[in-house]
Amino acid sequence: MPLTKVKHSLPVFNPFARLGRARYSTVAPLATTILAAVLIEFIVNSILHSPEAVGIPAIFVFIALIVYFSFRDGIKGGLITTGITVGYYLYIIYSRDYSGEQLRGSLETTVLLGSLYAGISVVIGWLKQTLDRVIVQEIEARELAEQGRIRLESILDQLPVGVILADAKTNSMQANRYLEKILQQKLIPEIPDDISKTRNTTTRNGKVLKPNEWPITQALREGKRVFAQEIEVIKPEGKRLFLRVNATPIRNGTRKIVAAVSTVYDITTEKEHEQRKNDFINMASHELKTPITSMKLYLELLERRVQKSQDIKTIEALKKIQRQTDRLQELINDLLDVSRIQTGKLRFQKESFDLCEGVEETIEVVGQLAKNHRILFKKKASINVYADRFRIYQVLTNLLTNAIKYSPPESKIIIKVTKEDKKAVVSVQDFGIGIDQDQLKKVFDRLYQVTDSKEKTFPGLGMGLYISKEIIRRHHGKIWVESQKGKGSTFNFTLPLSSS
Ligand code: ADP
Repeated sequence: MPLTKVKHSLPVFNPFARLGRARYSTVAPLATTILAAVLIEFIVNSILHSPEAVGIPAIFVFIALIVYFSFRDGIKGGLITTGITVGYYLYIIYSRDYSGEQLRGSLETTVLLGSLYAGISVVIGWLKQTLDRVIVQEIEARELAEQGRIRLESILDQLPVGVILADAKTNSMQANRYLEKILQQKLIPEIPDDISKTRNTTTRNGKVLKPNEWPITQALREGKRVFAQEIEVIKPEGKRLFLRVNATPIRNGTRKIVAAVSTVYDITTEKEHEQRKNDFINMASHELKTPITSMKLYLELLERRVQKSQDIKTIEALKKIQRQTDRLQELINDLLDVSRIQTGKLRFQKESFDLCEGVEETIEVVGQLAKNHRILFKKKASINVYADRFRIYQVLTNLLTNAIKYSPPESKIIIKVTKEDKKAVVSVQDFGIGIDQDQLKKVFDRLYQVTDSKEKTFPGLGMGLYISKEIIRRHHGKIWVESQKGKGSTFNFTLPLSSS
């Protein structure tokens, strides 16, 4: 309970009720002690008619007053009471006409009692003032903390992002207004140990996320930092909500976790747009596939007919149409692959095959398009990998066509296949335009193309490397690029060796 709120029936007389106020009165001890002296004088003179009766009872009354006022009004209060008391004692000595031994004895007692009273005043007054100072500091610190809490709360409530604060000591959680708006319900105040106590079903990849798997719990209990975890929440009315969640533990000076904070972004609209885009790409590429297939069939038919007529110009034109149709088909296949990756439908048929043979076959096919480039590959012993042969050909074709596309005619392209601790490593090196250091990682992103105003534009949609990365990743391999702007690039990938 806060000390400032202590209530007593008569706070004016209760010195404890005044603790922490640090306001010391001069009038109260002065007036009360004078009043007490006058009252005692009145009682002994007018009621008891015995002026000598003042003595021991008066000592007790004044000690009580000194203790009371030094605790109520500090050192000053105690010393004022002491002063008045000593003054009254001197008045008694003077008014009772003491002389000789009695006068000396009374004066000595007054000096002794006066010093004792002053001592009591200083000790109790100092104690009271120290207590007041400590309490005032405590109240100020609490007020400061409270102000900070209110300020933080209002900042959090203004943020356009959901925030959860969890406390390790109380195992409690607190959310800002935005999070409650996203979830359309209040957050459960405690982190439950039992899943059945959670109000909303939280799922990830269709799996129910237990409370100890929530990012905030992982940060609070295990000290884990969670970054951009996507979580799907099913709201009570059945609506799906996609959230991107970060969480981090907060530690004290001794590195102990005292709290955790989590930020929650509602990415439902983003996800819905992405889903619509994927659906469109999927539908469009499927729709385009059928006319292209029949176009290719009719082209073959036409070519066979024209071949008999020996019409060179028409044959040439038909060949050009065929090449463009092939290119169109490749683009559609890439679009379909991108859509398969997005929907998790990219499937592989793995087998054991010689990677060097794959490289040779790719060079044979792709090399026909690049008669001017010198493609160098020295086949040594066979290197067997366990992978989807056609998907790996697809990666090789992409790397080789890129090397051709992004390097000048007549330049060399060096392909190497080596074995390195249980892995096959393929590298495709060109001496072309190269890639800037800050773009190196991005070239594997979906639909990413390096843009440079000084460079000529190359045809393409930025899908090839994204698909290649996914294919290699799904084969438990690695793909990366080393490059220097203007000097050329080397694309590398690894594949696990076949165990048979
Ligand atoms: P694209 O169809 O545009 O070639 P990719 O995914 O294959 O798509 O490549 C992505 C981007 O990476 C390209 O647009 C190009 O800017 C860069 N890139 C790829 N290979 C090379 C290379 N060998 N040399 C220089 N830049 C390259």
